[in-house]
Amino acid sequence: MLRSVILAASRSTTIERLVATTPLSRDVVRRFVGGTSIDEALTAGAQLTGTGLTISIDHLGEDTTTAEQASAVRAEYLALLDALDRAGLAVGADVSVKLSALGQRFDEPAATEHVRAICAAATGVDCTVTLDMEDHTTTDSTLDVLHTLRAEHPRTGVAVQAYLRRTEADCRDLATAGSRVRLCKGAYAEPESVAYQAAIDVDKSFVRCLNILFSGPGHPMVATHDPRLIAIAEDRARWFDRAPEEFEFQMLYGVRPAEQTRLAAEGYTVRVYLPYGTDWYGYLMRRLAERPANVAFLGRALRSRS
Ligand SMILES: Cc1cc2nc3c(=O)[nH]c(=O)nc-3n(C[C@H](O)[C@H](O)[C@H](O)COP(=O)(O)OP(=O)(O)OC[C@H]3O[C@@H](n4cnc5c(N)ncnc54)[C@H](O)[C@@H]3O)c2cc1C
Repeated sequence: MLRSVILAASRSTTIERLVATTPLSRDVVRRFVGGTSIDEALTAGAQLTGTGLTISIDHLGEDTTTAEQASAVRAEYLALLDALDRAGLAVGADVSVKLSALGQRFDEPAATEHVRAICAAATGVDCTVTLDMEDHTTTDSTLDVLHTLRAEHPRTGVAVQAYLRRTEADCRDLATAGSRVRLCKGAYAEPESVAYQAAIDVDKSFVRCLNILFSGPGHPMVATHDPRLIAIAEDRARWFDRAPEEFEFQMLYGVRPAEQTRLAAEGYTVRVYLPYGTDWYGYLMRRLAERPANVAFLGRALRSRS
C-alpha cells in the first residue's frame, strides 16, 4: 500500500518540487546518488573500485520527451565513457542505460541509434553496457533493442524483473552463451495482470529465474540486497561450479554497503550500481518505496522545513 502511494508520488511534479527544495533532502539523496557531475561520479567510482568492488554507472534521467533531450543523454554517456577511460576506470566497468532517457517512448529507432553509439564507445574502452528494465509497457521494445545491439556488441546486458509473470520465459530465451542478464525483483507499480503482487510470489519467481540462469551458459548478474536470495545464489554458484568471473552480485550504491564488501572479501564479483546526475527524483522515490525506514528519514527532513 505504502509502496504504491510512493510510486504514485514519483510521478507528481508538486511532490517533486517539495522534495527537491527541501535542504535536508540532500542528505537523503546523497545516500543513494554518487554526485551530480561526471567528476563526482568518478570520485565515488574510484572509492568503490579501491575497495575491490566493480561499478555500473547510471546517468540519472528517464521518460525523455524531446529529440534534443535524447541527444543530450547520448552525449552525456559518451562524455562519461571518455572520462572513465581517462581516469583508468573503464576496463571492467559497466554503464547502465535507460532506453526511455534516449527517447524509446516516442522514437524507438532513434533511441536504438543512440544506444548503439554508446555501445560502440563502451566497446572501444573495454567497458560494457547494461539496459535497465523499466515499466512493463517497454519490456518487448527493450528486448528487441537488446537483440539488435547484441548482433554487434554481444556483451550488452539487460535487466529482467522477477515480479513480471513473463520473466521466467524471458530468462529461458536469454540464457544463451555469454549472455549478461541482471535479475532483479522489479521496482515499478505494475498491475496484477502482468506482475505477481505478493512478496513471496516475487521471491519464488526470482529463485526459478536464478535456477534457469545459473544452469545455462550465460553470465547471471544477481541484483538484490535480500539476504535469503543472496544465500540461495551462493548455493547455486557452488552447485553449478561457477567461478567468480562467471557470474556477479549487484547492489545499489548506499544500500547494504557492509554486505557488498563482505561478498567481495569472500571472492565474489560485486558490482555497485552508481547513479549520478541532477534528475534524481524518480530514482529516489523508487528507493524510498523499497524500504519504509527510508521514508521516515525523508519525512523527518520535510518536517524540519517548517
Ligand atoms: C544493481 C541493481 C540494478 C537494478 N536495476 C533495476 C532495473 O533495471 N529495473 C527495475 O525495475 N529494478 C531494478 N533494480 C531494483 C530492484 O528491482 C529492487 O527494487 C531493489 O533491488 C529492491 O529489491 P531487493 O531485491 O533488494 O529486495 P527487498 O526485499 O526490497 O529488500 C531486501 C532487503 O534489502 C535492503 N534494502 C532493499 N532496498 C533498500 C533500500 N532502497 N534502502 C535500504 N535498504 C534496502 C533491506 O534490508 C531489505 O530488507 C535494481 C537493483 C539493483 C540492486
